[in-house]
Amino acid sequence: MSSETTPRNNFIRELVEDDVATGRFGRPVTTRFPPEPNGFLHIGHAKSICLNFGLAEDFAGRCNLRLDDTNPFTEDMKYVEAIKRDVAWLGFTWAAECYASDYFDKLYEIAESLVKTGKAYVDSQNEEEIRENRGTVMEPGKPGPYRDRTPEENLDLLRRMKAGEFPDGAHVLRAKIDLAHPNMIMRDPLLLRIRHASHYRLGDEWCLYPLYDFAHGLSDAIEGITRSLCTLEFKDNRDIYEWLVNEAGFERPPTQIEFARLELDYTVVSKRKLLRLVNEGHVSGWDDPRMPTLAGLRRRGVTPEAIRAFCDSIGVARKPARTELATFEHAVRNDLNMRVPRVMCVVDPIKVVLTNYAAGQVEELDASYYPHDVPLTGSRKVPFSRELWIEREDFMEDPPKKFFRLAPGREVRLRYGFFITCQEVVKNDAGEIVELRCTYDPATRGGDSPDGRKVQGTIHWVSAARGVTCEVRLYDKLFTVPDPEAQGDDVDFTTFVNPDSIRVMSHAKVEPSVLGDAPDARYQFERTGYFVKDVADWRDERPVFNRTVTLRDTWAKVKGA
Ligand code: ATP
Ligand code: MG
Repeated sequence: MSSETTPRNNFIRELVEDDVATGRFGRPVTTRFPPEPNGFLHIGHAKSICLNFGLAEDFAGRCNLRLDDTNPFTEDMKYVEAIKRDVAWLGFTWAAECYASDYFDKLYEIAESLVKTGKAYVDSQNEEEIRENRGTVMEPGKPGPYRDRTPEENLDLLRRMKAGEFPDGAHVLRAKIDLAHPNMIMRDPLLLRIRHASHYRLGDEWCLYPLYDFAHGLSDAIEGITRSLCTLEFKDNRDIYEWLVNEAGFERPPTQIEFARLELDYTVVSKRKLLRLVNEGHVSGWDDPRMPTLAGLRRRGVTPEAIRAFCDSIGVARKPARTELATFEHAVRNDLNMRVPRVMCVVDPIKVVLTNYAAGQVEELDASYYPHDVPLTGSRKVPFSRELWIEREDFMEDPPKKFFRLAPGREVRLRYGFFITCQEVVKNDAGEIVELRCTYDPATRGGDSPDGRKVQGTIHWVSAARGVTCEVRLYDKLFTVPDPEAQGDDVDFTTFVNPDSIRVMSHAKVEPSVLGDAPDARYQFERTGYFVKDVADWRDERPVFNRTVTLRDTWAKVKGA
């Protein structure tokens, strides 16, 4: 897998190389990808997946899939299933499937030992008192009235907390570190809290739940992780991470390295926000093809190889930066260009009648699936008949100079077919064009004229006799602004959902060859874009295609680039 792109050189890789050279951890490189099962994975997670699994692969180490499931309110088995499906789809195999919730016993044991050595205490202040007494960046915090409870008293309370004797919020377990610490997180951080809630895996077994900081580093240590990779917003959590793994007595404990999260223009990468798009009906679900989720991208026709190539191309850095959508689309086109067959589909059809072609006759024309610069071969037959569909925008009654397609009196080439000349434009009472009456030149079969006559345009078409009516969904950006989250504090990001992010073309016509293909087959519709069969909504009597990406970056043109 690593051979298909450039080496993944980055600062994390250099650190890991150094670990291996010095034998720092005394065990193979061990990483983990630790999603919380509270939503579907998105393109930002793909960056972390490629990084963690990629390092393990490159250094012959291990990478675990860890479900970081310590919050009983938001987690669900359906998200676990989706996460596993998506990581596997990206092409990675985890060394072990782990659950933070499997470590609750071990975490509780560590909590008791911290209490016994006076490194943790039960605090009975409420949330607000705790916050107030923690101080500010400018001012040190103040010890609350419970900070000096004896280890015996703390142990007794902790055991009763675990036994379910107290309601939510009555007590919390806190590390006893330093209320004047310059890093606010180190001012006696909370470790365990009471939550009488049903956990999706453990049911009602526990009413004590670990906070992120308590669970995360220790889960890493329990699994023997060497480098724990996380995004920059956890930089301040590194002190507590180190404090805990050391206090818990792990030998050669893991260390945390932070890197910049992926932020992609014209979308949001936060499960919480994506969940809102789903719940508020802005999209049809987590796998809506407009979503930046892996499930959405898959349904959109993006390949796992394209996502991995994209992640490699953006690299891994310490500084936050946004990634342009064009960078992503470039990776998608590059990948699809080399692998998908070319077929013909008329998205917005207008009828052509060849007046000198026999009614009822159908002939099969040879059409190759791939252009010469793609190292794949294959062909199919496309039916040709007296009545055809062409793209409405490929005809102009009164064309400007640079228009080289069909116009009255003008001759063009039908791809793989014949030269045709438009003789007459038929309109309805409303003045709309309903039919173009043309003649074809039988001598031009295959696309060349024996008399050396040239035409300036070649257009795609579909036989009306044999073509299949289908629905084509043209997707555009999900948001109207590059950074919908940075439009001011009082402006909700959903304000910028693009009302034109989907255009449904319900009378498109596709050549019949596609019907027998796989349910998730991908294509280039010639001159139109890359498309995929929609796995969810496809019916044989009503085929549906999703546009994965246009053929070129139309936005570069708009920006004048
Ligand atoms: P979200 O806000 O989407 O819920 P999260 O960080 O809370 O993101 P987790 O499920 O906790 O989601 O993330 C699992 C792993 O994926 C973490 O190690 C996290 O740092 C990483 N990750 C999440 N989002 C991104 C991103 N945009 N870029 C890179 N890595 C990410
Ligand atoms: Mg999280």
